Amino acid sequence: MAKDYNPHKTAQAQFDKVADLLNLEHGMKAILRDPLREYHFLIPVHMDNGSVEVFKGFRVLHNDARGPGKGGIRFHPQETIDTVRALSMWMTWKCAVVDIPLGGAKGGVICDPHNLSQREQELLCRGYVRQLSKNVGPLEDVPAPDVMTNAQHMLWMLDEYETISGAKYPGFITGKPVGLGGSLGRTEATGYGVIFTVREALKEMGIRPEDTTAAVQGFGNVARYAIELYQRIGGKVTTVSCWNQKEQKPYTFKKEKGIDLKELIPITDNFGSIDNSKAKALGYEILPGSAWIEQNVDILIPAALENEITADTVGKISRKVKLIAEGANGPTTIEADKVIQERGIFLIPDFLANAGGVTCSYFEQVQCNMNYYWEKEEVLSKLDLKMTSAFIAVSRLAREKKLYMRDAAYVIAIDRVARATKSRGWV
Ligand code: GLU
Repeated sequence: MAKDYNPHKTAQAQFDKVADLLNLEHGMKAILRDPLREYHFLIPVHMDNGSVEVFKGFRVLHNDARGPGKGGIRFHPQETIDTVRALSMWMTWKCAVVDIPLGGAKGGVICDPHNLSQREQELLCRGYVRQLSKNVGPLEDVPAPDVMTNAQHMLWMLDEYETISGAKYPGFITGKPVGLGGSLGRTEATGYGVIFTVREALKEMGIRPEDTTAAVQGFGNVARYAIELYQRIGGKVTTVSCWNQKEQKPYTFKKEKGIDLKELIPITDNFGSIDNSKAKALGYEILPGSAWIEQNVDILIPAALENEITADTVGKISRKVKLIAEGANGPTTIEADKVIQERGIFLIPDFLANAGGVTCSYFEQVQCNMNYYWEKEEVLSKLDLKMTSAFIAVSRLAREKKLYMRDAAYVIAIDRVARATKSRGWV
């Protein structure tokens, strides 16, 4: 991520454009373009070597007019408060566009879990919750996994919260392990959700998935399940790119006849770094990290981090590309977005494309509240229904009002949140 890039400014610029379209009044604009609340705190951790390391943590609640705040906690060495602010705002729109009764929030810790032992990560998770326990909770703000956090981190956080509260509160956090309050299908949900929307977009464009190829950026949880489902509906992924932890830079892995998850997953570490030499031995071409964007494919799926499709890289997108599905949050800058719109590429914007994760988190909460858990098929079919109806509503509005897909998604989401905010009498 470029150092001077500010995702909060991007999120606000996207908001401002649609706020004007919707003629939102001054007070409404002011309350929606910034977070309602944010917490900054320090988390001291007694490290394995006997020293004490102090980490910086954040939790930002953007808006809770439609329900408790909802959003993941990221562990990342380059985390910034402005990134967390932007992500919390995108969570508000995400929950609204799929019409689930939740608000938007996000958390982050500046740390690199690659360099932390399991014990140190556990202490960090527990320390995070100790700093926040009074300001989060099943009815206030519900965290979840995100970049470099997983079900184990969620369970440590839940355990700390329940220890402090003196009772069981499975609704405090989502993305928990199955059998300990987690939902079947939660791990797959974000990646599958991306492909449910890709499938619908292709249907609208009159293209069969079997006739398409894709390049994917990222090889974490979202990317892998997106690849799996896309291949199952007949598509071919020729290229995948991921971060190489040893060399501290990304690489792209290419196989013209289609990458094979069964080959790649066993040679990938816990953080999604594929081993270059082993991939080479399996017949993959190894290209620079940026090569994913210039592939001659039909579909691009950025599923890594924010700020990847920029003014510098957007020109490299092949003329063949017809569809971009943003699996990551905020992968496209404002300048690049203009180019994509001008070129008439069909875009499935991030807060619609990747809403499957939070939708399944909502199902997880529903199941926790009932203390009755659904079969995986039931979870995934409910997810498909939610994602498909949200996609259809956005693309219909885009067509009717001749709007860019991102703007159409924003119109639906901002309108829902503004109505809730107004009905409550906040403005
Ligand atoms: N971190 C995921 C997202 O960005 C899921 C959030 C959640 O489940 O609350 O949408």
